[in-house]
Amino acid sequence: KLYNQVQDLKGSIRVYCRVRPFLPGQKSVLTTVDRIEESTISIANPSKYVKEGRKSFTFNKVFGPLATQEEVFADTEPLIRSVLDGYNVCIFAYGQTGSGKTFTMMGPNELKEESLGVNYRALSDLFHLSKIRNSSQDGINVPEATLVPVSTTSDVIHLMNIGQKNRAVSATAMNDRSSRSHSCLTVHVQGKDLTSGATLRGSMHLVDLAGSERVDKSEVTGDRLKEAQHINKSLSALGDVIASLSQKNNHIPYRNSKLTQLLQDALGGQAKTLMFIHISPELEALGETLSTLKFAERVA
Ligand code: ADP
Ligand code: MG
Repeated sequence: KLYNQVQDLKGSIRVYCRVRPFLPGQKSVLTTVDRIEESTISIANPSKYVKEGRKSFTFNKVFGPLATQEEVFADTEPLIRSVLDGYNVCIFAYGQTGSGKTFTMMGPNELKEESLGVNYRALSDLFHLSKIRNSSQDGINVPEATLVPVSTTSDVIHLMNIGQKNRAVSATAMNDRSSRSHSCLTVHVQGKDLTSGATLRGSMHLVDLAGSERVDKSEVTGDRLKEAQHINKSLSALGDVIASLSQKNNHIPYRNSKLTQLLQDALGGQAKTLMFIHISPELEALGETLSTLKFAERVA
């Protein structure tokens, strides 16, 4: 309850930045990340590489390369709890391919208890906090989506694994399909306020977004180019919607993409949104890193 009051004062949109560590096998690589503080990230000497001299970016929180899955979730947990108070909660993972989006949401390929990502932790939280009965099979309006009643965390984990496999299957055939599709897990929760008896309906959307990298037009053509432009359009439409919401504009441009149309109910009204933006630490990633930081600064 206290958390909700604090949230309401601060507004309903939060941005957390997470920096991926260097991966095993990457030796003495140059980094762009100069300094990480509680809520500020400084990019090393960007003026040397790009025209603008901007250096520091401030968000609600910045997680460095050593942050554990547990630490990251600790700051997310209160948001999950507000689903039971009837809020619509959206959690997005944004960033270029390889920056750690899937790691944050799902975890690494080899899952251990301590490496479980936000999806698992959020679901097991919801199941632990309520006595859950099976959901009914209505309210679905997405052609490619499946609505399945669940009653335990392992039901949901099983479903998520199927979802991940569907993404991975096409990956070998079509050059990393997972980086070119959005993956969305939605949970609807219906509860009863024990004092007033009123029915509360909350929802949680966990979205691992497609890679945000811009494509080089000289390298891709035809369908691949169209697809890439489509992804970039949907991500910038999402940015526009969240930015308009955070500025409390009268007109929110939901209709500019499928993604924002789909999430319209979840992003407006009794809604709380958390955007995890992901940074790859390597110097080669500087261009995308700055574009990710600017995207996030606009929606924060
Ligand atoms: P994305 O989904 O953005 O394309 P991934 O989540 O697949 O990126 O991460 C790319 C690689 O980096 C994977 O091997 C992943 O396990 C690893 N990785 C990402 N974030 C972290 C982290 N915080 N700690 C350790 N390894 C990470
Ligand atoms: Mg991924």
